[in-house]
Amino acid sequence: MPTCDVVGCDREAVRAVSREEARKVFRLKEGRGKAHLCREHYKEFKKKTKKERKLRYLAWRG
Ligand SMILES: [Zn+2]
Repeated sequence: MPTCDVVGCDREAVRAVSREEARKVFRLKEGRGKAHLCREHYKEFKKKTKKERKLRYLAWRG
């Protein structure tokens, strides 16, 4: 299993997500393809992307 792609994190990765999306939330180590995230960073990623989606929704609603 690869390790987490977030700079400064050496935990074991549990998920792979879109590198572009992960970049909006974290500073990532150099690499290509999917970004690998550990359990903690994946949780944070989900939380932040969910919040962003909600804001976009509210903006759309006016
Ligand atoms: Zn991590």
